[in-house]
Amino acid sequence: MARRKFIAGNWKENGLYAEARQLIEELIPLVKDATTADIAVCPPYLVIPAVAEWIKGTNIQLGAQNAFSTEAKGALVQKGAYTGEVSPAMLKDAGCTWAILGHSERRQYFGETDEKVNVKVRACYEAGIKPIVCVGETLEERDSGRTAGVVEKQVRGCLASLPADKMAETVIAYEPVWAIGTGRTATPEQAQEVHAQIRGLLKELFGAEIAEAVRIQYGGSMKPENAAELLAQPDIDGGLIGGAALKAKDFTAIIEAAK
Ligand code: PEP
Repeated sequence: MARRKFIAGNWKENGLYAEARQLIEELIPLVKDATTADIAVCPPYLVIPAVAEWIKGTNIQLGAQNAFSTEAKGALVQKGAYTGEVSPAMLKDAGCTWAILGHSERRQYFGETDEKVNVKVRACYEAGIKPIVCVGETLEERDSGRTAGVVEKQVRGCLASLPADKMAETVIAYEPVWAIGTGRTATPEQAQEVHAQIRGLLKELFGAEIAEAVRIQYGGSMKPENAAELLAQPDIDGGLIGGAALKAKDFTAIIEAAK
């Protein structure tokens, strides 16, 4: 079964109300006839309810850039005394389908670990939110030949003890840290090598059928100029797009490159 491409925009900390509205208004007509890929936007939390209204009836899905949960008294927390946090159940209530988890910026600046991501992944399943789980090595790790080991540890840690039926709906985003927001993209061969490795690991962990079904996005300075080549690789099933997702035309061009 061919995997359907999935292009998601990570707006990061960008998107005041008026900016978000303009971007969505530009995007809706540009992508309305796109049939070859699933499309999602992941705006900041505060504009999620508004974006949910604006995209109603369109082919654009909604995601968040994070979700919070922890384990307390043997249960996954969806509400409670966790000031400032937003749970998967709240995201579902606000109209989200997806949540990006374990983005490298969250790992770098907010102490996100594989163990924390694993809890969040399970809490997302519980609430009916599909996770986009980010993994990827730093430049130092790549240069010292540790890419495969680092990515394997992240995949194993983030997906530990997950039920196979849920795994098929989970998306993995391979995002080499050195390529995020730097303008430096992994070559299609570099990306394909890691994507194939991840799929091999999924086969070991969840079986061949699930491994074939899981979509693995590439993320890291994907843009209209390099998208087609990356998306043509056999194990690259879409893109998680940062900077280029803030321009409706560029985001659309990437979606159109997903054949
Ligand atoms: C990202 O933040 O997930 C990302 C891939 O960013 P950029 O496309 O800007 O490198």
